[in-house]
Amino acid sequence: MNIIKALPSLLINKIAAGEVIERPASVVKELIENALDAGASRIEIEVADGGKKLIRVSDNGCGMSPADLEKAFLSHTTSKIDSEKDLSRIQTFGFRGEALASIGAVSQARLTSKLRLTGSEKNASPEAYTVEINGGELNPLQPAAGSEGTIVDIRNLFFNTPARQKFLKSNAVEMGHLSEMITRFAIAYPEIQFAVVSNQKNILNLLPVSDVKERLRIFFGDELVSQLLLVEDESVLGGRAYISNPLVTKPTGRWQFFFLNRRFIRDRIIAAAVRKAYYEIIPGGRYPAVFLFMHLPFEEYDVNVHPTKLEVRFRNGWQIHDNILGLIR
Ligand code: ADP
Ligand code: MG
Repeated sequence: MNIIKALPSLLINKIAAGEVIERPASVVKELIENALDAGASRIEIEVADGGKKLIRVSDNGCGMSPADLEKAFLSHTTSKIDSEKDLSRIQTFGFRGEALASIGAVSQARLTSKLRLTGSEKNASPEAYTVEINGGELNPLQPAAGSEGTIVDIRNLFFNTPARQKFLKSNAVEMGHLSEMITRFAIAYPEIQFAVVSNQKNILNLLPVSDVKERLRIFFGDELVSQLLLVEDESVLGGRAYISNPLVTKPTGRWQFFFLNRRFIRDRIIAAAVRKAYYEIIPGGRYPAVFLFMHLPFEEYDVNVHPTKLEVRFRNGWQIHDNILGLIR
């Protein structure tokens, strides 16, 4: 008797969502990444009830044509790669084309978008369109009102996956995860304006700045930031780090942020290098503050190893380790 069958695409998307979308903060991550990939200079994040009830991300990026809008919620549809070759030189945050499909499978979602026109197309006068998806069921495209760019509305996350919904924490805890996520992007992209609205209250409006220290000051306070030391290494790490001197330590590693080509990453090798650099010069159980901004050629690492791309695989991890250790020492 034959027992193997192909799963329906709705179920496939729900399974994919299980890997990528854990909580409201994961949705915000994917939507901010899409806005950055679309070249936005201003991103507004609006949430209600810690993102459980509503997450709305609006950007002034390139927008989407009506035909693209119809495809955006389908799985494995992307404008970012074409061929296998592209996989080894990914410059965008996205490339798998599954974030919107995953989110749309486990929420009530709406995309409204209007193409940003370049000079030669100006007389095409496009309109905004909107497309809705409800627990994976896509509705037809409709004309809408809207300005250039994209608005994504995500309502009632996990309304159709109660097992997942049960794992969500209080609004305050979910809001904490959201803020942490937004902090990472705000530090990596100081030139981008970020505004955050929670339960209809403006809670953050970050104007574009040229110096990342100004953003660090907002999130971590004057006192810490004024004591940070700048170390630079353009040749091997293509980067710089702001690190605390050994007299300034923290109770956890929460003040350590590592960015690789402006992508926030978690990495055990980097964390080990930081630990080693401060070993025996700070008390046990204390952690330095370290904000590390590395820039490496795309051949040096692979981002296609982790569902949420929070981890990467370095081609030569120990070399990175030694370089960071050397830089901080
Ligand atoms: P990926 O980012 O991996 O391509 P997504 O599911 O996140 O996959 O998005 C699918 C496609 O929808 C993107 O490749 C992009 O072309 C388009 N898109 C999504 N969000 C936006 C946005 N904010 N602005 C413009 N285009 C977008
Ligand atoms: Mg994406």
